[in-house]
Formats: sequence, structure tokens, C-alpha cells
Amino acid sequence: MKAIVCVKQVPDTSGKVAVKADGTLDRASMATITNPDDLNALEAALKLKDETGCEVVVVTMGPPPAEGMLRELLARGADKAVLVSGREFGGSDTFATSQILAAAVNKIGVGPEDVVFCGRQAIDGDTAQVGPQIAEKLHLPQVTYVADIQKDGNSLTVKRMLEDGYMMVKVQTPCLLTCIKELNQPRYMSVNGIFTCYDKPMEVFDYNALKDDPLIEVDTIGLKGSPTNVFKSFTPPQKGAGTMLTGDDTAAQLAGILAKKHLI
Ligand SMILES: Cc1cc2nc3c(=O)[nH]c(=O)nc-3n(C[C@H](O)[C@H](O)[C@H](O)COP(=O)(O)OP(=O)(O)OC[C@H]3O[C@@H](n4cnc5c(N)ncnc54)[C@H](O)[C@@H]3O)c2cc1C
Repeated sequence: MKAIVCVKQVPDTSGKVAVKADGTLDRASMATITNPDDLNALEAALKLKDETGCEVVVVTMGPPPAEGMLRELLARGADKAVLVSGREFGGSDTFATSQILAAAVNKIGVGPEDVVFCGRQAIDGDTAQVGPQIAEKLHLPQVTYVADIQKDGNSLTVKRMLEDGYMMVKVQTPCLLTCIKELNQPRYMSVNGIFTCYDKPMEVFDYNALKDDPLIEVDTIGLKGSPTNVFKSFTPPQKGAGTMLTGDDTAAQLAGILAKKHLI
């Protein structure tokens, strides 16, 4: 049994956000972190490993320096890492990204008891599309917004967060789950994990490694295979400072202001 975890390296937006003249993020000059939801996905996989002894494989698509993040995830307890990296993959939108990641998951191999974990959403692209698209392309059942997982033989009972409550879903493995922060508290790297993370296996899947998968065609990956295009990116103008109403008659003050503007 395997747990395959898709993890994205994202810019650290808690510091200074660098924006290029064309309005896009200057990723090269920003520090990077592991996408927060993906740490919850990894923790869910590690809990499954604690219960069943399964193998945990982390996979990311990104440039070669993403190896540093993968080593950190190995130090947190993952058993094996896969870096999907190649010039042919550059410029991919979510369709092309999920095409490539699905091919990588195919190459790792999905067995009858396996679970593919993703975060719900990445904090940079923010679309929440990649997990569901991977499931679709691998013909796997999927549950999104996962807040709890109970394993019961070859099926999982999953608590799925809704806007105003929860839904309990029973899903058969193999399946794909997208995880939210309410699911768990990610563990830290252990001292032993830090010592052993460079001894654990790390494979690189480049274009040649994936090109035989039917999902990988020149017109389904990279810029050429991306049906969406960002034609404009801009920072919205800042709103003016608000007015703070104080005193015992704030409702009357507000009504007066709205009446003056002919809004009531
Ligand atoms: C219209 C459009 C055009 C774009 N064009 C470009 C471009 O030209 N160049 C460019 O570099 N980027 C581009 N991007 C960004 C790129 O598509 C995203 O980085 C990528 O597809 C992931 O989408 P997301 O950030 O919305 O992830 P989400 O869908 O929000 O991520 C959900 C989950 O999917 C998994 N996941 C997502 N991405 C990865 C990954 N790379 N590796 C492993 N797991 C992952 C993670 O588990 C993550 O939590 C574009 C995006 C859009 C919407």
C-alpha cells in the first residue's frame, strides 16, 4: 500500500511580495515554503503510515531547487521523493500541470489500496483545480475539502467540509483526497529524519521519463498545452481609509451619513 502526496513549493507571502514590472510575481527573488495545505496532506499520509506501515511518496513538479523542499518532507517522515522537472513542463497552466502530475503518479503506480493526497489549494495559483483534475485524468474517485479520514479495510470514511456543515462520504481505494488545514496538525522534522533524509531515495522524472504516458503529448503540456492564458495581471487600487464611528449613537451617526449620500 502506498500514499502518494502531491506537494507544491510556493513563494513565502508572509514576507515582502516582489512583483515584476509586468505585474507577475518575481518568484526568483522570494523565499519559498511548502504550500500549507500540502503539509496537512503529508501529515494525513504519515498517519496512514503509522496505522498501516504503508510507503509515503512525495511528488512535486518544479525547478531543480525544489529538491530542498523534498528533502525536508523526507525528514518529516516520507519514504521516497519524486521531482518532476524539465524545460518542456515550463509555462503549464492547471490543465497541463495536472496532466504531467497524473503521468508522474501513473509512473509511480497506483495500486488497489493506494491513496493520492493533495492540498485543497495552493496559496499562489489559488485555483484548487489541480487535485480534482489529477483524479479525473487517472479515473480515480475523489473527495475534496477533507477534514477527517477513518480507514476501514479497502474503504475510507471521510468527513468533507461544506460551507455550513459536514458531509460523511465512504470512498473505495484507490482514490484521491484534497486536504484542508482542519484535518490535522502537521508534525515537525525529527532529528533522526534530518540525519537520514539524504539517504532516502529521490527520483527525477524529466520529459523523457514521462513521454510514453498517453497523457504526455507536446500539445498537452507546457505553454503550448495550456488552454488558459493570463492576459493581464494588476494590483487593485488601495481603498481609502475608513471612518470610525464612536460614542453611544453610532447607529444614528451611520444613518445620518447614509441619508446625506442619499443611500437611505
Ligand atoms: C491561467 C493560468 C496560466 C498560468 N500560466 C503559468 C505559466 O505560464 N507559468 C507558470 O509557471 N505557472 C503558470 N500558472 C500557474 C500554474 O498553473 C500553477 O502553478 C499550477 O497549475 C498549480 O495551480 P494552482 O497553484 O492553482 O494549484 P491548486 O490547484 O490550487 O493546488 C491544489 C493542490 O494541487 C497540488 N499541486 C499543485 N501544483 C503542484 C505542483 N507543481 N507539484 C505538485 N503538486 C501540485 C498540491 O497538492 C496543491 O495543494 C498559470 C496558472 C493559470 C491559472
